[in-house]
Amino acid sequence: MTDTKHIEHDNAREMPPDAEQSGRRYTIYPLPTRHTVPIVPVRDVVIFPTNEIVLTFARKESISAINQALATNPKHIAIFTQINSEVDSPTAKDLYTIGTLASVERTLKNDDELNVLVKGIKRVKLNNINTEGSVQLAEVEEIKESKVFDEELEALGRRVSALFKDAVGMGKSVEFTNFMRLMGGVSASELSDQIAAVLNVNTTTRQKLLETLDLKVRLYAINDLLTKEIKVLEIEKSIASKTQAKFSKSMKESVLRERLATIKAELGEDNDPEEQELDELQEAIDKLKLPKKHKEKLQKEFTRLERMSSHNPEAGYLRTYLENALEMPWGTVTPDHVSLKSAERILNIDHYGLEEVKERILEYLAVMKLKKSKSKNNNGVSLPTILCFVGPPGVGKTSLGKSIARSLKRRFVKVSLGGIRDEAEIRGHRKTYVGAMPGRIVEGIKSAKSMNPVFMLDEIDKIGNDFRGDPSAALLEALDPEQNYEFSDHYLEIPLDLSQVMFIATANMLDTIPSALRDRLEIIRFSSYTSLEKFHIAKNYLVSKIAEKNGLKAKELKLSDTLIKSIIRLYTREAGVRALERELSRLARKVARSIASGKTTPAITTSNIAKFLGPARFSDNQAEKKHTVGTVTGLAWTSVGGEILFIEVSLMPGSGKIQITGQLGEVMKESASAAYSYVRTHYKDFGLKSDFYKTQDIHIHVPEGAVPKDGPSAGVTMATALVSALTGKKVKKTVAMTGEITLRGRVLEIGGLKEKVIAAHAAGLKEIIHPDSNTKDLEKIPKEVRDDLTFHGVKTIDEVLALAFV
Ligand code: ADP
Repeated sequence: MTDTKHIEHDNAREMPPDAEQSGRRYTIYPLPTRHTVPIVPVRDVVIFPTNEIVLTFARKESISAINQALATNPKHIAIFTQINSEVDSPTAKDLYTIGTLASVERTLKNDDELNVLVKGIKRVKLNNINTEGSVQLAEVEEIKESKVFDEELEALGRRVSALFKDAVGMGKSVEFTNFMRLMGGVSASELSDQIAAVLNVNTTTRQKLLETLDLKVRLYAINDLLTKEIKVLEIEKSIASKTQAKFSKSMKESVLRERLATIKAELGEDNDPEEQELDELQEAIDKLKLPKKHKEKLQKEFTRLERMSSHNPEAGYLRTYLENALEMPWGTVTPDHVSLKSAERILNIDHYGLEEVKERILEYLAVMKLKKSKSKNNNGVSLPTILCFVGPPGVGKTSLGKSIARSLKRRFVKVSLGGIRDEAEIRGHRKTYVGAMPGRIVEGIKSAKSMNPVFMLDEIDKIGNDFRGDPSAALLEALDPEQNYEFSDHYLEIPLDLSQVMFIATANMLDTIPSALRDRLEIIRFSSYTSLEKFHIAKNYLVSKIAEKNGLKAKELKLSDTLIKSIIRLYTREAGVRALERELSRLARKVARSIASGKTTPAITTSNIAKFLGPARFSDNQAEKKHTVGTVTGLAWTSVGGEILFIEVSLMPGSGKIQITGQLGEVMKESASAAYSYVRTHYKDFGLKSDFYKTQDIHIHVPEGAVPKDGPSAGVTMATALVSALTGKKVKKTVAMTGEITLRGRVLEIGGLKEKVIAAHAAGLKEIIHPDSNTKDLEKIPKEVRDDLTFHGVKTIDEVLALAFV
């Protein structure tokens, strides 16, 4: 082993160029010194002067080099960083040329590896590598850093030191002893090299810092890098604190719970609420009246829950699932009481009129009873087809459903299907979904608390379908007696027996019910009430019901017949009695309030009713005030019942353009065109010039433009309005008409005559022109309405015109 050679060269002393002139203090550099020392290449680390660091070597060459150094005094090595850390036997070209002369302070052998504590001494430049036996020796030359001691350097030193302190304060990890030493005050040079060694930067950047010989430049670079590091630390901290805020609450809770459990265990009161909850769940599962197979499924889920940490989010879902499943009224049915006599009695007690409807319902119950008496046990009785109540709002569909439940002593539930577009709303979401819930059928049964309720599916005409599946298909499965004893809900996963449920659907219109569904339904129509019917309903049913609801005695809400009639006439215009019920409730509340505040019961009369309900909302007579040209009263049938509508035609000089406005549907527009074509074909009959259409524009308008209108039944009305406008003939103000028109002027049958006539009557019209083919419908119109009106069945538009003009 040869001694490490320290070769001194007799170089001139380096003097800063303008030392004399500036008069600043300069370090006097020693002569550049050359050494030949064992070389140790390192990967991914850069050693700076003054750094003390433990390096671990496994390469044979490196271990030999260290051993060589240990045998000399001083025990120096030259450390150079590899440019590419993947090279295994690096040669001079694989190393950065600037490295560090270091001393080997201590070594520790560990299997094949050697741990070495080294201490950086000086920056050196690699001049050459020579191999000597198994050891590579580097010829290196010391290089000096350049520094000018001035205010700038001092400020830089302070700044970097403060930044470093900040970074450590924010969580930058450094060795404590190193940190204390640096803070205790070291030279700017050492400060820069120590910090450079621990900056969070890659090897290339760190090597650059080693190669930066100008101390100020180096400090500036370190300043930048530290500033950046602090920014990153700040961001990290803010992320961490946000996350912390999220978790600390649940963490705190869980720690407290754990403590509580320990305390309780110490005190021997070992009833953990969670455990208790689990016990309760287990007990409930044991009690369930469910087939073994399904019970086992619940038991399996329960065991899963039991094993789960209560902090596992899945535990929450699982518990909700079990609670939902356990809340279902498995196997619970209310005993049926199908006594037709009492059913009839109850239906009559609860509802005025509706004879036909009640009749149909009693028939249905009779069939049910018959089927039941034939099958010995209660189970397996599938009900006949599903009833579907169709009619405008407020005509008693829901309340009749409730009465049916009452007469059968069954529970009643109502589930609204309006606006449902997703199959999952009927059938549930799989329970693994976040926020999963059972479908509406399951929810309905759950809230009914029995497996045989009267189950009302409200607004079945308002379900839609889209890409999320067809809810009506799921509904069909629920309603089909062949399948519904095993209805599957995606969430519940246990089949539900719906065979004993009595489903009643309701709808305003039949047209929009999907046909597959409609085929299953037995349609029972409810029609609009006449004013007289409304009066009876109010007098005999609503007033007493409302009085009770508002805490009034019957005699405290005494309304005369004339008063009730004027409320109906002046404050409501509807097919059913909802608005009427609302107005009467308003009145009742006012009365209740004045009684509660110690005043006497106010006397309410037709003359002071406005004081209670505000000014009348509708005029007594909706019909036109006088005979007019170009305006005709038509009749329409919508989902909320019959309505009267006015069709207006006006002419203006022009070139024959036609404009149709008022939110009309396609069919209604076609109907306007048909009417116009008819008038043009028959211009002679109306005394018009052959080119009448060339010289004027025509505007057809149906007011209340916000309400969409459609259907062909306004054909005769449009034709009449056109002829009136073109000929200047006045139309009788008391006439209302309905009928489809063909191009040849024939008048065709229309739907909903009864509803339309009731509306016309309520609006104060006197004569009804209707298609002759609808004459058969007249007998269904309540007598009190029929007696008030004159009916004209017509076959052609000529007859219409003859009747309509003054
Ligand atoms: P729908 O379900 O058809 O929209 P509801 O059943 O909600 O109508 O009826 C509205 C209100 O009118 C309820 O309070 C109901 O009791 C009452 N009602 C409707 N028709 C009658 C009737 N024929 N006899 C007594 N009350 C009625």
